[in-house]
Amino acid sequence: MKIVLEQLSKRFPNRNRKLGGEVIAVDDINLTIPDGKLVGLLGPSGCGKSTTLYLISGLEKPSGGKVFFGDEDVTDLPAQERGVGLVFQSYALYPHLTVEQNIRFPLENLKGADRLTKEEMKERVLEAARLVEMESLMGRKPSEMSGGQQQRVAIARALVKSPKVLLLDEPLSNLDARLRLQMREEIRRIQRQTDITTVFVTHDQEEAMSICDLIVVMKDGKLMQMGPPQDVYDDPTDLFVAKFLGTPPINVFSGRTGGKGLYIGDERVLLSDDFKEEKDVYVAIRPEGFVPDDKGPLSCDLVRVEVMGRDVSIVSQHKDCLNDTGLIRSIADSEVTVDTGRREVRFSLRPRKVFVFDKESEERIRFEVTGEK
Ligand code: ATP
Repeated sequence: MKIVLEQLSKRFPNRNRKLGGEVIAVDDINLTIPDGKLVGLLGPSGCGKSTTLYLISGLEKPSGGKVFFGDEDVTDLPAQERGVGLVFQSYALYPHLTVEQNIRFPLENLKGADRLTKEEMKERVLEAARLVEMESLMGRKPSEMSGGQQQRVAIARALVKSPKVLLLDEPLSNLDARLRLQMREEIRRIQRQTDITTVFVTHDQEEAMSICDLIVVMKDGKLMQMGPPQDVYDDPTDLFVAKFLGTPPINVFSGRTGGKGLYIGDERVLLSDDFKEEKDVYVAIRPEGFVPDDKGPLSCDLVRVEVMGRDVSIVSQHKDCLNDTGLIRSIADSEVTVDTGRREVRFSLRPRKVFVFDKESEERIRFEVTGEK
């Protein structure tokens, strides 16, 4: 089922009564979620991810705009009539019911033509339990299961009514690191197996990048960028998106353009006809964009070299680096040798890993390096 959000917005009265006024949780979002895809809503705390999900589900009513499922305008349809399955961060299982009873629960209240016989219910419950690989634990109660198992049951319960859309709100947040990794693969597998359009809210960029077909990056209620994870990583349209994606994070420097050069401090690090204009800019360089090179134009103060098996992480400093930690993290493959006895490390830069942003608007300034096709 394709989902379309058209000029969608949601305002709440401010929770802080002293401040008064309204909070704009979702601000004029236009978005098409294609049928059968796993889409991650991503952004920092308070950017409006959960509210967007609740607007899709029908749990919240928009202040403006429309929600379509396929061609049908569902904006005024209550949540229970939209055919959505919801999974929350807290598993919200009934503690006194078994796995089987928890999964069956949504089927028991079906009315009219949707009503199922006991046999049909049994079959549907078993099918959903199989999908999440919980069919051997049907008699267990929630207190007798791990967090991961409880979340599987919650997913089965959301799937048992064969919803058109599956909505997951930070489903992995209560799990420990190892289980999170395992469960995110599970979510991918279940989504592939069912082919159900799935929207997944997370603030963890790595989680979203690893399993989603498409990511939607949000900030202050606005949609900043949408696309396949690799495309957004390789081609961010503004500084916020560039900084939000990537581990280790992108390295940001204060720089300037002019006379066909891109400068960090006094060092001309790249040459392009697109750098004619004299301008103050941000220069953001992915960790894999630095190439240790004794003749390279960018000189940094070497702090340490960390060997991580496959890669080497070179930690350095530069007076114009704006990273919160004050440290530049670059990654080179383990064959690269850096003389750790030296104070200086020099780099040349991979142009496609360097992004330049206007210092005022923080929007991308695109360039083609001279001599590059
Ligand atoms: P988090 O990751 O912390 O859950 P989020 O990106 O999901 O954040 P939302 O929960 O959608 O963000 O909230 C967006 C903004 O709207 C926040 O400023 C929040 O305080 C505000 N907000 C959300 N729900 C309400 C409400 N019921 N009443 C008042 N303000 C609200």
